[in-house]
Amino acid sequence: MSEGSISQRTLFLKHIGQTSTAPPMIEVDFAKGVWIQDVYGKRYIDWISGISVSNVGHVHPEVLAAIHTQSAAYMHVMVYGEYVLSPQVQLAQRIAGILPTSLNSVYFVNSGAEAAEGAVKLAKRATGRSKVISCINAYHGSTHGALSLMGNEFFKRAYRPLLPDVYHIPFGKFDAFNEIDKSTACVVIEPIQGEAGIILPPAGYLKALREHCTKLGVILIFDEIQSGFGRTGACFAFRHEKVVPDILLMAKGMGGGMPIGAFVASKELMSLFTHNPVLGHITTFGGHPVSCAASLACLNVILRDNLEIAATKAETIIRHSLIHPLIQEIRGKGLLLAAQFASNDIALKVMQECFSQGLITDWFLFADDCLRIAPPLTISNEEIEDGCERFKLACDIVASRI
Ligand code: PLP
Repeated sequence: MSEGSISQRTLFLKHIGQTSTAPPMIEVDFAKGVWIQDVYGKRYIDWISGISVSNVGHVHPEVLAAIHTQSAAYMHVMVYGEYVLSPQVQLAQRIAGILPTSLNSVYFVNSGAEAAEGAVKLAKRATGRSKVISCINAYHGSTHGALSLMGNEFFKRAYRPLLPDVYHIPFGKFDAFNEIDKSTACVVIEPIQGEAGIILPPAGYLKALREHCTKLGVILIFDEIQSGFGRTGACFAFRHEKVVPDILLMAKGMGGGMPIGAFVASKELMSLFTHNPVLGHITTFGGHPVSCAASLACLNVILRDNLEIAATKAETIIRHSLIHPLIQEIRGKGLLLAAQFASNDIALKVMQECFSQGLITDWFLFADDCLRIAPPLTISNEEIEDGCERFKLACDIVASRI
């Protein structure tokens, strides 16, 4: 049999590097708004946004137009940071314009993990220190450096040795700050923990952490790769509190579906990459002009259409509608929510049944007894109700079999 006549699913399993033995294998035909349609004509509500990526919905017309215009003008022309590329400049200016004034220098990369890598390097360079602190059940990416920050041994064990001098503190615990000392280069933390199952810190925690870091000259890095770009009801989750990090990480929802990430710092801090050594951080494709153009269009849509406010309204509807005996709790903020079940077994069964009902959800890396509720921020009220009905029906079916 020639490869041309073998099914896409068979070829997927044969040629695509796999990361689990049981991928859901939805065979995507096209996606639009909150909907994904497979090649068999089945329509799914996307309840996860490709893990917090499609904040403006799939194939937003303004993002698409920006991609068309920029790709017709030029794509890659030179490695990062050498030429003046208008899409990068405009995007950096727009990002700086919505952030506190101290966050005014943007280093573009291709992904979240790369943003974490660059930021930790910058913190080491700035402080001359090597100790790095992150949180238990933190996720900052899968490359060696970012993996070192991950606060979960199960996923790290096979890849040791990782970065030395990395320590983990419990998220949200004020009395764990004593681990952060004068030998610490940086603390890397998600203002709202994502893969831990959407965990909010107690009131005042981020402020106290900020004060502790400032006192000891420790660089504070906020990872908003999952929580950024309107998802939690503010453009960035740290805006819910009056706390400003030294470095901010972003990716995922930034690109409107295109690959891009960034770490943002003060001009003074970022300038350290220019000397001792020169080329302190380099990347070929970081800040790709087409991704930057898409990202600018995406950010403009989020701000113009007040999608962060839409996320907060959507949360209210979901909390009102999504009530079921199997769901113990809905946790989170805006459209970064987790539905808590009694066990992993129940969560997985509900997830499978959601797929059957045409609703895509997923579990969390460190909370496999929870399911994600993180649809595009453009979701309409009718689509939210539709999604909640499908979710509850899935719960009903699972409950009837227990
Ligand atoms: N940081 C957080 C909070 C994330 O949720 C993720 C991805 O899920 C990352 C970093 C890594 O991003 P990427 O997959 O783009 O490397």
